[in-house]
Amino acid sequence: MIPATFEYLRPTTVDAAVSVLSDAGEDAKILAGGQSLMPLLRLRLAYPDALIDLDRIGSLRGIRDDGDALHIGAMTTHDEVIHDPSVREHVPLLARAAETVADPAVRHRGTFGGSLAHADPAGDLPAVALALDAVFHVRSIRGEREIPAAEFFVDWMTSALEADEILTGVRVPKLGEGWGVRYEKFHRTAQAWAIVGVACAVRRENGTVTDARVALTNMGPAPVRATEVEQLVQGRPASGDTFRSAAEHAPSGTEPPSDLHGSPEYRTHLATVLTARALTAAAAS
Ligand code: FAD
Repeated sequence: MIPATFEYLRPTTVDAAVSVLSDAGEDAKILAGGQSLMPLLRLRLAYPDALIDLDRIGSLRGIRDDGDALHIGAMTTHDEVIHDPSVREHVPLLARAAETVADPAVRHRGTFGGSLAHADPAGDLPAVALALDAVFHVRSIRGEREIPAAEFFVDWMTSALEADEILTGVRVPKLGEGWGVRYEKFHRTAQAWAIVGVACAVRRENGTVTDARVALTNMGPAPVRATEVEQLVQGRPASGDTFRSAAEHAPSGTEPPSDLHGSPEYRTHLATVLTARALTAAAAS
């Protein structure tokens, strides 16, 4: 199908973008890589009066080392994230998860910020942002604000962004010494969306778990932090027994969806198995 008619705007600065967004109000949509939005327009599931393309705003692209954290511009593509040396060194979980997103064509156009703003519960990067305690930087004509990942993903395809706000970048704290990471994704075919995914980072010292982060993809309307699992492995030997018994608690507090690819019961089973697998692999890496 062909999208409904819209005005196409290409600001070159963030100031100009938030200004036109404010003028256009709820009838406008931000366009990033277009990998999710363009299909919605073509199917006429979305029909905004105006599209504000961020592609010409150079300041929204790129990765900066801020000492204890990396700042990733919203318009940085998945491919740029995957190949960035500082991401691979300091937050490798992000590179591992981004490698599993779709196919090379989508990874070259799709953006880090677009994936997060879209807030698809089956998207791989929201769970990673949650596990890594990322902080979202947001701008509007009213000013700037920061939103912790734990407050950003509100519901199914719904983020904490207001209609006049643009996600400009994300601060991702570095993991530091002693951490191993793993993103486990169960999908029907290579390049498909996650039926369930588990983002996991484990810090070990002398064979004991000293810290852990676990977050689940597609186990509810928004990504879920498996806090019970994180607490249960703390101070325990970094062994298969520890991880298997803690992983039994991974589905706690989740609301797994039912769809063509799996029932809630099937996803509950997957979450348990994948969490044990991710913890074990992370601790061994
Ligand atoms: P767009 O499509 O341009 O925008 C998406 C939404 O976010 C729109 O509502 C837009 O208004 C809003 N938005 C975008 N940027 C901003 C911003 N800076 N501030 C405020 N709002 C903003 N993703 C996965 O995680 N895993 C997969 O396995 C996967 N498989 C895919 C397979 C296919 C065939 C396709 C087409 C996509 C797939 N994706 C997958 C989605 C992909 O990661 C997209 O890149 C992503 O969802 C959206 O990013 P985008 O830059 O294309 O955003």
